[in-house]
Amino acid sequence: MRKTPDFQFRTARTFVVVAVLITLMLVTSHAQDARMNQFAEQYVRLVLAVGQHDADYVDAYYGPPEWRRDAEAQKLSLAEISTRAAALAQAIAGANPPATADEMTGLRYQYLSRQLEAVRARVSTLMGTKLRFDEESKALYDAVAPMHTEAEFQSVLSKLETMLPGRGTLIARYDDFRKTFIIPKERLDAVFKTAIDACRSRTLEHIQLPPGETFTVEYVTNKSWSGYNWYQGNYRSLIQVNTDLPIYVDRAIDLACHEGYPGHHVYNVLLEKNLLRDRGWIEFSVYPLFSPQSLIAEGTANYGIEVAFPRAERIEFERRVLFPVAQLNPDTAARYYQVLDLVDQLSYAGNEAARRYLDGEVDAKGATDWLEKYGLYSRPRAEQRVRFIDQYRSYVINYNLGKDMVARYVESQGPDRWSAFARLISSPRLPSSLTTPR
Ligand SMILES: [Zn+2]
Repeated sequence: MRKTPDFQFRTARTFVVVAVLITLMLVTSHAQDARMNQFAEQYVRLVLAVGQHDADYVDAYYGPPEWRRDAEAQKLSLAEISTRAAALAQAIAGANPPATADEMTGLRYQYLSRQLEAVRARVSTLMGTKLRFDEESKALYDAVAPMHTEAEFQSVLSKLETMLPGRGTLIARYDDFRKTFIIPKERLDAVFKTAIDACRSRTLEHIQLPPGETFTVEYVTNKSWSGYNWYQGNYRSLIQVNTDLPIYVDRAIDLACHEGYPGHHVYNVLLEKNLLRDRGWIEFSVYPLFSPQSLIAEGTANYGIEVAFPRAERIEFERRVLFPVAQLNPDTAARYYQVLDLVDQLSYAGNEAARRYLDGEVDAKGATDWLEKYGLYSRPRAEQRVRFIDQYRSYVINYNLGKDMVARYVESQGPDRWSAFARLISSPRLPSSLTTPR
């Protein structure tokens, strides 16, 4: 068909209008990005400022070193941090993602605003505000752990009574049973190295990691935790393993996956690569421990164990590879994991102990007794756990509730668990949005 001059003119005019609109949208979107980046910088500086008052707060920082030096030099008071955080929250609330924004950018806005809310809650606690356990976990981790009764734990304990017959209390029998699964001290490093290699190679089959990623392992004592990943930036982690108490063979895969692959190390590496370096989102150069980010971090680290080692494969690997390296009897592996699966059903007893203790219903001894009775913690382990609760408070929910929330979310995304898992640890998704259907 021949085009008339009028048609050509109208086409050209439409083209100009569309081009102007696109340019305007891009200019606006760049301006919005620039504004958001400024908010992100203010957020990072506030987190570093809180770190001056709370030694546990800044879990990782690998942004501009001068920002940390500024925080140290200024040493803002908590009242001043609180005022600045309130002003920033108001500014972020008035900002909206550009119309052209992708899903990740939308998540970025929600994430920054919610993380900042948690900064404000932590500052308010440091200034003396007392929150109940559930209020605190909601404010800091964007989630509340369900309540469980003694009767629920009792029914699991009854099954364990049957599985571990004999004289003495159940906890004493369980302790005795577990003794045969302690990794001899001189085998510890070899067992961990084997476990780390296995977790790493399984992860690399599904998740591409940037070249140069690596970590070092250190053995430490006198800590309230059993393992810790200190992310250093530049795709490097320092993983510390606490040897205060005997280390059972199941901890090797658990720690190697949780702290390393596909857990904390991989999570931090992917945030640094995808969000900080590729997108320039500076808020991901800092990790405030008492924030919703921790529920995602701990939840994915714990769920990642099962993603890397589905139950049957795990028992097979333990029996064939790890038990021999630890010089343990491979024929006992299957039964060991049957018992552990039951004990795992008691994990919420730990949350109940923390809730009762922090809400003032029981004292430290009461909490220790509760952990021993309903969580099947040995006395020294229960005492270590109460020290953990003293230090980290409602953070305890991030492990088991976090894992359950992450599991439900990942499994709702389709049969390919690895790809849904990798997407989750590469995005700024909040705990409360894990429960929203896709
Ligand atoms: Zn962890």
